[in-house]
Amino acid sequence: MKHQRLQTGRTLLLVLILSGFLFGCNSRETKSTEKQPYLIVLSMDGFRWDYAGKTDTPNLDQIARRGVKAEAMVPSFPTKTFPNHYTMATGLYPDHHGIVLNTFYDPATDRYYRISDRKAVGDGSFYGGEPIWVTAEKQGVMSASLFWVGSEAEIKGVRPSIWKLYDHHMPYGDRIDTVISWLQRPEPQRPHLIMWYFDQPDGQGHRTGPDSPEMVQMIGYLDSLLGVFINRLNELPIASQINFIVTSDHGMENISGERVVMLNDYLPGKWMDTILGSNPVWIIKAKEGYKDQLAQKLAEIPHISAWPTGHLPERLHYGHNPRTLDFVVAADSSWSVFYGKKGKYFGGTHGYDNANKDMFTIFYGMGPAFKSGYRQPVFPNVSLYPLMCDILHLKAAPSDGNTKDVNGMLVR
Ligand code: AMP
Ligand code: ZN
Ligand code: ZN
Repeated sequence: MKHQRLQTGRTLLLVLILSGFLFGCNSRETKSTEKQPYLIVLSMDGFRWDYAGKTDTPNLDQIARRGVKAEAMVPSFPTKTFPNHYTMATGLYPDHHGIVLNTFYDPATDRYYRISDRKAVGDGSFYGGEPIWVTAEKQGVMSASLFWVGSEAEIKGVRPSIWKLYDHHMPYGDRIDTVISWLQRPEPQRPHLIMWYFDQPDGQGHRTGPDSPEMVQMIGYLDSLLGVFINRLNELPIASQINFIVTSDHGMENISGERVVMLNDYLPGKWMDTILGSNPVWIIKAKEGYKDQLAQKLAEIPHISAWPTGHLPERLHYGHNPRTLDFVVAADSSWSVFYGKKGKYFGGTHGYDNANKDMFTIFYGMGPAFKSGYRQPVFPNVSLYPLMCDILHLKAAPSDGNTKDVNGMLVR
């Protein structure tokens, strides 16, 4: 009798374990079945918040009409490409995720990170925080990236299921084909999160400036590519389940040969151990014993802000990470600052204080998660990560973003 009860108990336990197991599998499974939403995020580098006003942009207008257009999105300081793409992916300020500039030195490991150095860019140990594709993969949602900053590296032991080495010259038409082909895969191999990247209009902005006629052309061209992509999306059987975000990392500012500061006119080379960066933002490490002189002299230089790290305005959320070394220098809006030889001072650049509206960028979104015809107020790019997690029904990792900034644009 006792033996029989024991048996029944065991059977019950087995059934419970099995059903729990199946339930567990099921809940994981639903992540990659029809019910799990799709999210495609395209970043068009250096697309200033007001560029769409330069020419006819019927396709961006279409997204705004069918979905959401933000007044603007505020990048994080410094308003450069790598810090901001990785901020968008993690919801962390550059100080907190560690990609503090396109080029930096890591004192903890005595290593340099440069965007032109494939080995460094692909080395996960440089990247802090949890990018959205890692959040997704950990929760059973398949992800893909076509050139999003950080996606070539194994971070927290995870890469997107699909990723590619950065190829600056891959034609945009091929990028569109690639993303569409991923969405045409059969369900178990079809990514539900796709992050992809165009290097324009940043390149054009650097060359000819944000207000050039060439920029008007470029904006029209990029909008027409969006049209091609949206038409291809509309042909997919899963079209109605796709959420599509178009955004960017920062804006662009006109510069001129008449507004140039040469740091070497003020600072003797022997005072500095390291100076890294590019116009208009630099990080400096003082030579042993020269920190005070350097601080004093930097404070006297016109048309720049120079802060000892730990003393930047709180609103910049920058200068506490050891990778920011001893000083952070940023030129005043529309000024250029160089060290050594005079660099490119015509056309445009970015990297300035993120309170400068010319650094603001775009956010458009449409799909079943978004309200239709909604105008989103200005919001910080750290809140993109919690927004993307929300859309994909993912539990977000801790971040500097706030869902309150972005909730208003979603259908509840
Ligand atoms: P910048 O304007 O200096 O902040 O950087 C823009 C440049 O970053 C672009 O022109 C690209 O060449 C480069 N870039 C963007 N994403 C990547 C990537 N994932 N890997 C390597 N380089 C990249
Ligand atoms: Zn950029
Ligand atoms: Zn740029």
